[in-house]
Amino acid sequence: MASDVRVRFAPSPTGPLHIGGLRTALYNYLFAKKHQGTFVLRIEDTDQKRYVTEAEKYIIDAMNWCGIPYDEGPLKEGDFGPYYQSQRRESYAKYADQLIKEGKAYYAFDTAEELETLRKEYEAKGDIFKYGPITRNELNNSLHLDEEELKTKLAEGSNYVIRFKTPINRQINAKDEVRGYVQVNSDELDDKILFKSDGMPTYHLANIVDDHLMKITHVIRGEEWLPSLALHVLLYDAFGWEKPVFAHLPLLLRPNGKGKLSKRDGEKLGIPVFPLEWNNAASNETFRGYREEGILPEALLNMLAMLGWNAGDDQELFTKDELIEKFSLDRVHKAGAVFDPDKVKWFQHEYFKKIPTDHLLQPYIDSVEEKGYAVDYKTARSIIEEIRERADQVKDLWEQSDFYFQAPQNYDAKAVKKIWKGDIRERLDKIRGLVKEQEDFSRDNIKHNIKSWIEQSEYGFGKIMQPFRLALVGEMKGPGIFHIAATIGKEETLKRIDQMEEMLS
Ligand code: GLU
Repeated sequence: MASDVRVRFAPSPTGPLHIGGLRTALYNYLFAKKHQGTFVLRIEDTDQKRYVTEAEKYIIDAMNWCGIPYDEGPLKEGDFGPYYQSQRRESYAKYADQLIKEGKAYYAFDTAEELETLRKEYEAKGDIFKYGPITRNELNNSLHLDEEELKTKLAEGSNYVIRFKTPINRQINAKDEVRGYVQVNSDELDDKILFKSDGMPTYHLANIVDDHLMKITHVIRGEEWLPSLALHVLLYDAFGWEKPVFAHLPLLLRPNGKGKLSKRDGEKLGIPVFPLEWNNAASNETFRGYREEGILPEALLNMLAMLGWNAGDDQELFTKDELIEKFSLDRVHKAGAVFDPDKVKWFQHEYFKKIPTDHLLQPYIDSVEEKGYAVDYKTARSIIEEIRERADQVKDLWEQSDFYFQAPQNYDAKAVKKIWKGDIRERLDKIRGLVKEQEDFSRDNIKHNIKSWIEQSEYGFGKIMQPFRLALVGEMKGPGIFHIAATIGKEETLKRIDQMEEMLS
């Protein structure tokens, strides 16, 4: 049964969602599921200037791909829609009016130029201009207009914004689930704009009103919003509304721990910081995405869960259900979470291991065919099983198995130097002879016969096996050499020995 717990992820569609945003979505999702609550997606699109059309689709695609679907939101209408702030304008105007009527907000008519001049004047004095309790009485606003004067001014069509009238000298004690109490005196704040001249609310007003109307019980969001917390608390008090529980998640830091992970770090680190690839039409830039690079959504999800939270022990691998069961806000860290690209690779390796070979078959066969070769299911399965521990994703499978399909085009110089000397020709003859005399060219049989022959011969194991591997693979790596030989067959094995001899002589 559903509980009253309601959380929301409230991105602004100003660009693609970076992994920090995705982590916020994930923690909200885990919290909602843990408490049998509801996870809402709300699109905060009141800033028309920064609106990017494709961003919203990107956000939803990224959440779905990563396995963190929302319960209510765009295209999943619930009882609290619409879920776009741009479609909820009337309610913001209504609540702004309410604050004005109650003397908790006011109209301000100052032009941008006037405010800029003031800013400069203050700066020249080594001071910072703040539109707030100390200055507001001197400025061009409705605080010193009577009702008639205000009516006239509004009727004249003067441009205005609505500002919050910050209470004077009020001690604000805001509780954050992650950091404890955040204490601020209201005199440190300024009179934030709640409603803009374009008829749109600002983030602060719209966010509070919607969290209230959508019955949000827990606000879980990034640390960058912590400075807004005091204002939000004052706004809740001004409206006389019950406050949700607040939890601010730690910032994601660069691998060296210095500074916030930014959207351009992906290129520098060689690993994406975006879930999906993003083409920025305006700047003609492409940002790499985990999905396109073959990272599994489960691996990314698990990695993100650990970026700022732990279960209180050393466990790092969690299924989504385990995360839901174990997640709690009191285990979210205060300190910034350092993003570690190697950790992404580690999680990927762990999750790739878990994929049943059956699921890899078709993608592998496709990748082989793409290279112009054919392979049947049985052979493909046997190759995958032989090499998969060396692979972290489907594309590695080809790279780790190309020698099953094509003879070496060249030979590793270091290996050649080590192997191509002394009685190498003689040894190659022995190998050729051995291969030729195998009637049954199955792996087990050739392995048994060749090994027993070496044991009884005057040669050390390496003296025979190393040239054999070099002939088949072209270098000293790769999976079991008898598996390769058996898979490519006797004829091809002999051909490759001849080819090496020819090319290296
Ligand atoms: N629209 C804000 C953002 O883009 C939401 C912040 C919040 O969750 O309150 O992150």
